[in-house]
Amino acid sequence: MLNENKTDKVEILGLKVDNITMTEAAAFIEDTIADGNFARVVTLNAEIAYLSYDDKDKASLVNGADLVTPDGSGIMWAGEQYGCVIKERVSGIDLTEKLFSVGQKKNYKFYCLGAKEEVVKAAVSNIEKKYNVNVVGWRNGYFPLEESESIAREIKSSGAQILLVAMGFPRQDKWIADYGALTGVNVAIGIGGSFDVFAGLVKRAPVIWQRLRLEWLYRLLKDPRRIKRVLNLPKFMRAVKKDAAQRR
Ligand code: UDP
Repeated sequence: MLNENKTDKVEILGLKVDNITMTEAAAFIEDTIADGNFARVVTLNAEIAYLSYDDKDKASLVNGADLVTPDGSGIMWAGEQYGCVIKERVSGIDLTEKLFSVGQKKNYKFYCLGAKEEVVKAAVSNIEKKYNVNVVGWRNGYFPLEESESIAREIKSSGAQILLVAMGFPRQDKWIADYGALTGVNVAIGIGGSFDVFAGLVKRAPVIWQRLRLEWLYRLLKDPRRIKRVLNLPKFMRAVKKDAAQRR
């Protein structure tokens, strides 16, 4: 586990988040690969945190991970409510891009699991072109759970070291918890809708929106169907305020 020797954790709604920078997260992943270990990574955003609050199974998916990164402005804000400055936002998509840049130099083997067939196919093609990394296999994320074992074996035979799973929370993180070790990879990360972005289907918010902590608003304006999900944000904020006040 990352925090047995290093860095501190921030507890947000009972969920333990690693207070780390992007560089530290990438270094942890590189060490895990070099040591031949297996690590499960959760990229925790406010929505995942809210869904895991008061839900034992989801909370244990988060708290049982080897690395939990602070993904998004909601988590940065929440850290402040508990009196802690979170060093840096480490989102799933940014961490993935960072790993592509490290992986290009170290020739890491990646496997992409998740999203619709045509989406993951386009994502892989763009990833190979743009980042010049070795993607040894891919598969869409719409399969019956009974196929999981054979998919895990397929991943194992690909020889992948880093498994990117983009099937949304909790499906992706549960799949990793249940089958990650079977896949033989060193690191498995849940990265939400990132393949939709790599495929060019969804545009990321411009950096200025990200800096203003308004990426959620940009995504809502682009896709108003997200309103139901966005409405979890004020609920998350209320829960955090209450929990932080109780801990004082
Ligand atoms: N997805 C999948 N299998 C499923 C359900 C969803 O592969 O059974 C994919 C979906 O196509 C999308 C991603 O999971 O690419 C989830 O995106 P979401 O918008 O939930 O991600 P986030 O908002 O967490 O980035």
